[in-house]
Amino acid sequence: MITLAARYVFPVEGPPILDGAVSIAEGRIVRVGPAATGGAIDLDLGNAAITPGFVNAHTHLDLDPLEPANADGPENEVEWLRRVVMSRRSGTGAESAWTNVAAGIEAGTTLLADTTSNGQSWEAVAASPIRGVVFHELIGLKRLRGMETSGAAFEWLATVKNDDPDPKTRPGLSPHAPYSTAGWLYQRAAISKLPLSTHLAEMPEELELLESRTGPLRRFLDDLGAWDDDWEPIGARPADYIRRGDLRQADWIVAHGNYLDPSEFWQFRPEAAPQGQRVAIAYCPRTHARFGHAPHPYRAMLERGIVVCLGTDSLASSPSLSILDEIRYLHRIDGTARGELLLTMATLFGAWALRSDHITGSLKAGKSADLAVVSLPDRDESDPHELLLSSDLPVVGTMFRGEFVHGKWA
Ligand SMILES: [Zn+2]
Repeated sequence: MITLAARYVFPVEGPPILDGAVSIAEGRIVRVGPAATGGAIDLDLGNAAITPGFVNAHTHLDLDPLEPANADGPENEVEWLRRVVMSRRSGTGAESAWTNVAAGIEAGTTLLADTTSNGQSWEAVAASPIRGVVFHELIGLKRLRGMETSGAAFEWLATVKNDDPDPKTRPGLSPHAPYSTAGWLYQRAAISKLPLSTHLAEMPEELELLESRTGPLRRFLDDLGAWDDDWEPIGARPADYIRRGDLRQADWIVAHGNYLDPSEFWQFRPEAAPQGQRVAIAYCPRTHARFGHAPHPYRAMLERGIVVCLGTDSLASSPSLSILDEIRYLHRIDGTARGELLLTMATLFGAWALRSDHITGSLKAGKSADLAVVSLPDRDESDPHELLLSSDLPVVGTMFRGEFVHGKWA
């Protein structure tokens, strides 16, 4: 057994512990509590916080940074999509996935959900010392394109099948978005019994397309040769894409949800699932800001019982792959969001959404020793979460299953 001590331990399920300690044996946490009563300390981390490893519930590891189109204002998201399509055509992104998963680990991530166009990050995520769900995209409004991408996805699934009862890396499927993906691909994904992810209610242009089949996204799809005159949306509202028929039989990570209407919120509550299926919103704060969207309704969603977790989205829209950076940003722009809530969104809610909260997402006896060590500033605060959030000090250690995988103790 080893015991780590630090100025603060943030268990998430329970209040912060001043002068706390975490004891670990065989990769699992055996005790979380005050250092004074926990026996011998093997490693004193000093003026630092021990938190659960961060959970990045929505990213695309295969994408490289894309400079903002204009320096001084929000960027048009449809124009940005055109640029991403062009840059994706120039390479597969498999190389970038290796660099980007490493950047995630340096940022304290121990569980991530990666959406790829063709599963290209699988090897990098499987070889990494953290947990991950790799989603293979299903895309295409036109029948033929949809058949191509679903054929490729199911072939890929056969190659990554795993019988491990607690696999570190799991496959999933991602019907891309209502504006790019035919309804039958959503249905096919939902009956697979795999974890699913989709982009939903991301921009006003998407709502316009669903309601009237017109607007900037229609022109974008026409230009790409991807528009299908026979296309019928699953429904006129984004929520229809996770609730109609078989669609409700699956776990969904809903990326963004920026423009979900409050009248649709109830359909995203865990109570609305017929058999315990999990639906969560993955809000990506800095990506949301880049496109100048209307304020995200995450607080109203949480108040209505929806699980809102956090994603960075890709480097093409976000300055880093750090969930800690995301909550520090949210803390800056929304001073009323309590630190305790932000840290829970960054850890336990993401683990719940990925059906991993029984093994990770909080510091609790019996769970995997997946944690991050964050340097703290030399000052006192009445709410210790302020030490984590009103700071730019880095993650100095990442531990997975009881082993340091980043930092000087690795
Ligand atoms: Zn995305």
